[in-house]
Amino acid sequence: MLLLEATNLQIAYGSAIAVWDASLSVDTGEIVSVIGPNGAGKSTLINSIAGLLRPKDGRLMFSGTNMTTVPSHEFCSHGIALIPEGRRLFVQMTVEENLEIGSYVRKARKHRLEHLEEIYTLFPVLREKRKQAAGQLSGGQQQMVAIGRALMTRPRLVLFDEPSLGLAPSVVDTMFDIISELRSRGLSVLLVEQNVLKALEIADRAYVLDDGRIAGCGHPKELSQQSHIRKAYLGL
Ligand code: ATP
Repeated sequence: MLLLEATNLQIAYGSAIAVWDASLSVDTGEIVSVIGPNGAGKSTLINSIAGLLRPKDGRLMFSGTNMTTVPSHEFCSHGIALIPEGRRLFVQMTVEENLEIGSYVRKARKHRLEHLEEIYTLFPVLREKRKQAAGQLSGGQQQMVAIGRALMTRPRLVLFDEPSLGLAPSVVDTMFDIISELRSRGLSVLLVEQNVLKALEIADRAYVLDDGRIAGCGHPKELSQQSHIRKAYLGL
């Protein structure tokens, strides 16, 4: 079932257009990856789907609601949660305080303790470290806090901006396992990632963003067989 549909989005910083005419969709229970080189506009695109940047043109529909007219701070309560690039935790606050921030969304507030329990079951290490400052955790554990904080809002669509950035290779695998686990729990995921191999491996569908434009889309296997993608993104 169609969950998110972005049609002809144009996103600019002042007069500088960073994303031109981008259309993409995410179905319920699907992982969709957006791959592309540095500066292609991946963060710009995902931030606009999170409501942080307002498109200059185009339409964003989420679960039948036209999000183009929804204020930024209400995207979360509609069920869209972003795990931003660099995680953006409150490093001096405890792990638990960081997680609780996610439960300020009205519909999540009542079930805060129950949701915290779910996050600690998903990430047992966070239960152990719940009273520690988030800044003292390893990169992978901090990413778990960022994911946990997003899940506390009870999203239907989770947006990941470069989840593998700055993580050790073994931790990158764990992170992608967690993303698969979210799909098996019925969540939908839109992922932007420079780790093209991983992003294609995990996705049900993928889009290629190049210089602010969608340059291709399809099944990851088909995309990874296209010679320009193999050359430009996979180094093959
Ligand atoms: P990266 O992987 O390096 O983050 P990206 O694909 O996410 O790259 P964006 O960060 O979305 O790309 O950048 C797309 C374009 O928009 C780039 O030309 C960039 O310089 C420009 N840009 C990004 N953020 C801003 C900003 N705050 N103000 C002005 N221009 C910006």
